Amino acid sequence: SDKKAVVLVPGKINPRVLERLEGKVEIVAVPAGAEPALPDGAAERVNAIAVSGVVNAKWIDALPKLEIIANFGVGYDGVDAKHAAKRGIVVTNTPDVLNDEVADTTIALLINTVRRLYQAETWLRDGKWVGEGPFALSPFSLRGRKVGLFGMGRIGQEIAKRLEPFKVEIGYHTRSKRDGLSYTYYGSLKDMAEAVDILICIVPGTPETHKAINAEILTALGAQGVFINVGRGSSVDEDALLETLKSGALGAAGLDVFYAEPKVPEAFLSLPNVSLLPHVASASVPTRNAMADLVADNILGWFKDGKVLTPVPETPVKG
Ligand code: NDP
Repeated sequence: SDKKAVVLVPGKINPRVLERLEGKVEIVAVPAGAEPALPDGAAERVNAIAVSGVVNAKWIDALPKLEIIANFGVGYDGVDAKHAAKRGIVVTNTPDVLNDEVADTTIALLINTVRRLYQAETWLRDGKWVGEGPFALSPFSLRGRKVGLFGMGRIGQEIAKRLEPFKVEIGYHTRSKRDGLSYTYYGSLKDMAEAVDILICIVPGTPETHKAINAEILTALGAQGVFINVGRGSSVDEDALLETLKSGALGAAGLDVFYAEPKVPEAFLSLPNVSLLPHVASASVPTRNAMADLVADNILGWFKDGKVLTPVPETPVKG
């Protein structure tokens, strides 16, 4: 039919998503939030959602004609996919197109954390090199390290490949051992934390991974231990992380994601042994463009012939 699909966009999304959809669908932009707030008469007309953020059961239940939720990002913990599945609504995400970028950023964050390169550059920029002399030696190094990955999926495997030439030992913990990998498998996160001294978190934010990185895990990494998080902030007990970093029970941490981001606990900012990034692991123009294209193509494919490129496992695959 000539009737254009109505696509709801709660909050901000990469502008390329809107450019790609323009003219092909009708866009309804509304504020993001836990409670849906739509203009009068709009709720009954919405067929799709394009989102980078929250779509909970309340949003889904407010939209009787909703068919598809296209999430901008591979992590879709903001979308209630189980609830969508119950209503036969398809949820899509943006896997694979960001693997390399996120893995690159993870290595950079790891080295920045271990070698304190941000502080070193600040030393130069502040004129202290000439005024006060060389920057202090970094207490830590990658030499002789054992690295454990919590998560060995699409992105975890790219991180592991990049770690190989760094001559570190590599292991991982997931719920099920993966065939065809030469890395050491650990059946529990605790066992891995005891065996390694660098832990990289790249699991999705789920009820199971919620605060899985706790005082016990961080303490097991030890005083030379380094914790890197590029997964989700929800996987970490941040009070325990702050406590172990302050006491020296944990050596250092590099964080791209936070429990209540964009709010970052003030206490992190004054610690010398952290490297902090504002959730930028995939945030380059080329990679974000590829993610935007995937969001648009999932929506356009669905309304063209009922096909999507990248449905999440919880929701029905058609076409
Ligand atoms: P995949 O689904 O390909 O991989 C997820 C991995 O986590 C699998 O190895 C899985 O193994 C493991 N896993 C899941 N649940 C558990 C659990 N309870 N215990 C142990 N292991 C678990 O996802 P991707 O690699 O594509 O992405 C991973 C996550 O990274 C995303 O969900 C997102 O949250 C985050 N991310 C963050 C970005 C950033 O900007 N910082 C950018 C991109 C992604 P198994 O099922 O065998 O347990």
